[in-house]
Amino acid sequence: MGSLIDKFGRKITYIRFSVTPRCNFNCVYCNSHTPEDDKSEEFTTEDIEFLFNVAGKLGITKVRLTGGEPLLRKDIVQIVEALHKVREIKEIVLTTNGYFLKFLAKDLKKAGLNRVNISLDTLREDVFKSITGVNGLSLVKGGIKESIAQGLLPIKINTVLMKGINEGDVLRIAELSLDYPVIVRFIELMPVKGSDFWRKHYMSFNEAKKIIRSKYELNFTTGSAGEVATYYKIVGSDGKIGFITPVSQHFCAQCNRIRITAAGKIYPCLFSKEYVSVWDAVKKRDESLTKELIRKSVEIKPKEHGPIDENDQDFINNMRELGG
Ligand code: SAM
Ligand code: SF4
Repeated sequence: MGSLIDKFGRKITYIRFSVTPRCNFNCVYCNSHTPEDDKSEEFTTEDIEFLFNVAGKLGITKVRLTGGEPLLRKDIVQIVEALHKVREIKEIVLTTNGYFLKFLAKDLKKAGLNRVNISLDTLREDVFKSITGVNGLSLVKGGIKESIAQGLLPIKINTVLMKGINEGDVLRIAELSLDYPVIVRFIELMPVKGSDFWRKHYMSFNEAKKIIRSKYELNFTTGSAGEVATYYKIVGSDGKIGFITPVSQHFCAQCNRIRITAAGKIYPCLFSKEYVSVWDAVKKRDESLTKELIRKSVEIKPKEHGPIDENDQDFINNMRELGG
């Protein structure tokens, strides 16, 4: 088996694959998207099978399916099945808004999905609607319960921290880790192109930690290898609470991933403007060219992204295309 090592000695074993830029939600923090993007091309199931067979030979062992909303793909179960057949891929995970999960969790599990991360920023119906544009809270809760029932464990709940919008939910969402076998992760809001939402609503993980510590004692604990979150436990609980801090403390030194879009652009970093396209190589089923292009995307991986601050113009180009 080959391996992908970048200029800074980091071994790349993980691909985040955005299977579609389309989404049924319109989250306030993810809106760098235009209607034109929805018409962009998407790899077929067969293309995906070919691409990940090649990636497996280069040392990729983990794939995260993301989007847009990955469960909008009619062939999402077949995609998981195709990835499951790749011998080298040991972990297939999915990041979803959870809206369709209740109906798909069983088939996804059967197809070989290991785990799910579900985005949930509030437990209040009206706030949910104002963040996502959709009345979907009860369906998402149903998706979480069904994923637990199907054993897609450990389930991670991803909550984007937004000052003035969901500070009031931080404690209740953290408490989910007391009541359910879930890992709750608070994510610092990142800036996307064409929006000043980030400037108005950014909240550091320390503020969320303070809110939780106002009621509970938090002890530092470890996550699994390659994790980007820092983990804590509420004393006496089995669950974990994590903080993902791309803004206040970036984790580039441990980065082991590249990102591939539905249209075959490989981005070496979420903040990269540079990409390598494998679309033609995959469509032609050209294995050696596909390998060469994946290697090239690793070669151009930057050491780190720059500091994100008030003056930074270098925001994320298109969250849905890149998969977050
Ligand atoms: N639609 C799926 C979902 O929402 O889980 C998958 C795609 S979404 C782009 C992946 C993750 O990125 C979600 O957890 C979402 O909350 C997060 N995300 C999107 N925009 C963000 C932003 N501006 N800052 C921080 N996280 C963001
Ligand atoms: Fe859709 Fe996920 Fe972006 Fe929300 S965060 S708009 S659910 S892709």
